[in-house]
Formats: sequence, structure tokens, C-alpha cells
Amino acid sequence: MTEISEKIIVVSNRIPCSVSLDRSGNIKYKKGIGGLVTAMDPILSKNGGLWIGWDGQAESRPSKVKKFCIKDECGKVAYSVECIHLTKKEIKNYYHGLSNRSIWPLFHGFIFQSHFNAGYWKTYVSVNRKFCDKVLKKSTDKNIIWVHDYQLTMLPRMLKQANPKLKILYFLHIPFPNYEIFRVLPLSNKILDGMLGASLLGFQTKEDRVNFLVCCKELLGARVNFKKSNVFYNGRTVKVKNFPISIDYEKFNKLAKKKSAGKFLKSIKRIDNNTKIIMSVERLDYTKGIKERILSIERFFEKYPSYRRKVIFIQVSVPTRTKIKEYITLKKEIDELVGRINGKFADELWSPIHYIYKAIPQQKLASFYKAAEICLVTPLRDGMNLVAKEYVSCKTEGNGVLILSKFAGAAEEMSKYAVMVNPYDIDEVADSINIALNIHWSTRKKMISNLRNIVRENDIFHWASSFLNYYKKISG
Ligand code: UDP
Repeated sequence: MTEISEKIIVVSNRIPCSVSLDRSGNIKYKKGIGGLVTAMDPILSKNGGLWIGWDGQAESRPSKVKKFCIKDECGKVAYSVECIHLTKKEIKNYYHGLSNRSIWPLFHGFIFQSHFNAGYWKTYVSVNRKFCDKVLKKSTDKNIIWVHDYQLTMLPRMLKQANPKLKILYFLHIPFPNYEIFRVLPLSNKILDGMLGASLLGFQTKEDRVNFLVCCKELLGARVNFKKSNVFYNGRTVKVKNFPISIDYEKFNKLAKKKSAGKFLKSIKRIDNNTKIIMSVERLDYTKGIKERILSIERFFEKYPSYRRKVIFIQVSVPTRTKIKEYITLKKEIDELVGRINGKFADELWSPIHYIYKAIPQQKLASFYKAAEICLVTPLRDGMNLVAKEYVSCKTEGNGVLILSKFAGAAEEMSKYAVMVNPYDIDEVADSINIALNIHWSTRKKMISNLRNIVRENDIFHWASSFLNYYKKISG
């Protein structure tokens, strides 16, 4: 992994763990999961550094922890964490509001689900300012400040204005929409201007990168060099590049090889050892296409009745943003859909859909991946989708098929060896399940093995090194 001489300061909406004080006043922390933590934790652990973010709690119920250290297995300090506290109003307007009711839906192409108001915007800017003040207090121009994601689009500009010598990098984890969609967001030019405070802007895919360049040209009138992929704006040149985020391949590969993963496989097939498992797992978010997928499962059992009692579909949905109206409604719709379809097909020994509404630890998830003949990854839109990469990393015996949405960022790297679908096309997804179940084992093996190679060679460590090395190259 890259050795960095400068201290890295990672800034993201959330710190990499949940933190609290026990009864004796000792700090207890538990590392979070997900791409950002998987990516940045090893880099900071190796090089030292600082992570700044919100502690995930409301200020009226403060964790009382302001800063703490993450320790390695030997108990030595690996890196430090500084917490930002948010008030209830800030959480409502900045987090639930502009971040998750305006930017999140719009950037995923859900124009009609995107709600905007001036209060959201005002607080979004003031919370970005709060982050800025904290970063300025904790940094010098010798540090590399790496800002992450859509909650902090204004931060690069604020930092640059406060100290033009700061080295600022930015990575967007979600898709960047095309010009026609992006310009619907009021004050969208302010978001572009905010991001352009960084020296290097990273996106997941080529499509996101090009969308961003077009928006800079059309909305800011900036001089854009599409060939060199840079934006000349306000007297500075900003480099723009796509870096598809990934996973710790070796970790999942090892988890899948553990004995417990095999045992779980047996228990899951207890009814009939020949039962074939199709699985999906994600946060319960409308961008993930869960409703459409469940309708495709219904269509599959209608069109291909010989699979009844022979195939089960496991849907793991993780509760997320449970206070936002759109998410409450979606949860209700999915509960009803699962109930209706199970009612329609189930008998005394079998029901088609096993619905799990909770988060599953990654060790167990690896067992699910290992057990599943097919992984259905059918988001309506997704920045990357790490589940697709985790699934193939766990198929150590080469016996699985990935069905993948055209609209997931992961499609750019994985489409050649996956069964590709349009997740809105209920019939196509149903037919693709039938196709996947009938792919000859030798072809499956080749497909999975190619996908495994792609993920192994482009793992999370490769992602982080490429980003930092590229920055070093352009900054001379
Ligand atoms: N995940 C998990 N337990 C669950 C469901 C998901 O640990 O029950 C993890 C999963 O392993 C993956 C991440 O959550 O690393 C989801 O990342 P992805 O890019 O697929 O979707 P996101 O939630 O970031 O939109």
C-alpha cells in the first residue's frame, strides 16, 4: 500500500465508528461497515492521520466524546478521530433534508422524489462551515485533506478560500447526474463551485466524470478540456478523474473459506439439499429497486412454475433513513408485496421469499453469498454497488452467477461476465433468472473466475493508492 509522507485528514459526514462512554467513563467504539470505512481505515492505520466527522447523534443527547484514538491489535494508537456534534435542527435540515431529500434522490435520477427548500440549503451551508472550522483548526498546509461525498460538497471551496495553500482532494461516492437532471437542483452552480475548491475530484465512473465536466461547462461557463479531463475555473485548473471504489477482496475470500460459512450453507438448505438460493442484500432504499425485483420474482414463479419448491429468494433489507417519509412508505409497500406474493405461492413446506429486515454482520453475509446460486443486484441507480463485488469474492468454488443492473456503477467493470438486466423490465429480470439457473457449470465457472480476477486486481487498496498516487503525480 502507498506510503504517504504527509499526514492525511479524512473528512466525511460520519466518523468511521459509533462511539460512547461506558459506566466508568471509558471510551468504547465499534467500527462501522461500508466502502468508506473499508477504504480509508487501513490507509490511516498505516500512515497515521486524523478522521473528522459527525458522531451520528443529536447534540441534545451528546455522546460527550469529542475526540479519541483508534488503536491497532497491539493496543498502539493507529490514528485519531475528532467528532462533530450536530443539533436536532442541523440533522433535520442538513442530513435528512438537503443531503438525503434533495441531493440523494436527484443525483440518482429521481427528480420527483427530490424536495428542496431554502431552510435545507441554509443549514447545509452552515454545517459545511462547521466542518470547515474544525478542519482548519486541526490542519496545516502540509496535510492532505481528503473530503468525501455528497453531504460535504461546499467544504472544498470553503477550505480553499480560508487557506489557498491547503491540499484538498474530494471523492463523490454516488452517481453524478447528467446536465438535464442536475440543473433541476436550485443552486446547483453553487454545488459545482463548492466541489471545484479541490485540486483533484474523483468520481466512480466515466459517465459520472463526463456528466460533471459538461455541467461545469454549461452551468458555470468554465473552460473544460474533455480530453485532459480538467476544468479551468477562477484562475485554477482542477483535475477530474474516475476511480471505481472497491472492497477488501482478500477479507471476503477468507470469510467465505471459513468452516462456519459451510455449516451455515447446510442449515439454510435443511429442507432440501437441492434447494437453489437466489439472494439480494442492501439498505432499504428506493434507489435499490427492491420493489421491482420482488415483482420480478413473482413473475419468475408464474412463468417458470417448475421452479416452485426448488428455489427460494432471500431478500435482506437493512433499515436506513427510517425517519424520512419516502423510506417509511417504501418499507410498508415492500412488507405488503412480500406478504401478497408469499400468500399466493406458499404451501406447508415452502414459501418463495425469505424476507429479513435487519443488518447482517459481514461474516454471516459471506455465508449467504457462498450459499447463493444467484445474486440479484438490480438497483435502479447506484454509485458503485459493493455487494456485487463482495458476492464474486465469496464464490470460492466458482459456482455462482451475478445478475447485474445496467444502472449500477459496477456495470462499467463487471458487465462482460455478468447477466446484465434493465431492473425496470420485470419480464427481462424474471427471464434472466431462468437463464442464469441454466448456464452450464463450466461457463459459470469462467464467468465468476473472470469477475473474481477483476475485483482482486482492483481492490480497495488499489483504489486508495491510485487516488493518492495520481494526486502526487499532478501536484508534482
Ligand atoms: N452490508 C452489511 N450488512 C448488511 C447489508 C449490507 O454489512 O446486512 C454492507 C455490505 O457488505 C456492503 C455495504 O453494506 O459492504 C453496502 O455497500 P453498497 O455499495 O452495496 O451500498 P450502499 O449502502 O453504500 O448504497
